[in-house]
Amino acid sequence: MNTAAPALFLADSSGLDFLNSIATPIDTPVDWIVDGTGLIAWLRQSQLVPADSLDRVASEATPQALDAVAAQARELREWLRRFVLKYNGHPLTVRNTQELEPVNALLRQDQSFSQLVIGKEGIQLDAQRRWTSAQMLLVPIAEAIARMISEEDFTHIKTCEGHACTLIFADHTRAHGRRWCSMSLCGNRAKVSAHRRRQRAVR
Ligand SMILES: [Zn+2]
Repeated sequence: MNTAAPALFLADSSGLDFLNSIATPIDTPVDWIVDGTGLIAWLRQSQLVPADSLDRVASEATPQALDAVAAQARELREWLRRFVLKYNGHPLTVRNTQELEPVNALLRQDQSFSQLVIGKEGIQLDAQRRWTSAQMLLVPIAEAIARMISEEDFTHIKTCEGHACTLIFADHTRAHGRRWCSMSLCGNRAKVSAHRRRQRAVR
């Protein structure tokens, strides 16, 4: 598995981008959060955690602790995959908050606070967070998931139509006609094979 390749951020929703942190972009499956180092690299690219906080957590935690958090992240991801594939294609109908507990349990650990800071545009209110352990890295992921679950119309959450593609995205196009994770990964490939099929039919 090659986690050096840049991660994919094409879902138009950071909660769903997390789901796409395991994918098969070209033939070989890639898991970007296969271990603690992978998790840190993925979080850096996702910008869910500020770079300086990420550096501090990564330098203070043992590699074993980071690997354990990555394992928890993968579990959360598979829970999310089951949840999204159960409900997508229709308006979301969850009757029991117990079903959302994996996310709520993480959100309860949040240690956020706000601070007045002096920025380029003057004084502004800045959201900050206490990073008391490596496990806290899961909180912003849970927050992105929670935002996706509470704000997205699940009717338009789709799986890519590409052959063997597992990527999931929110279709925010006006006509809701998005079919592919991206043109470069699947859209063009589908167009080429449709073109070949047409050519064969002509012959
Ligand atoms: Zn695709």
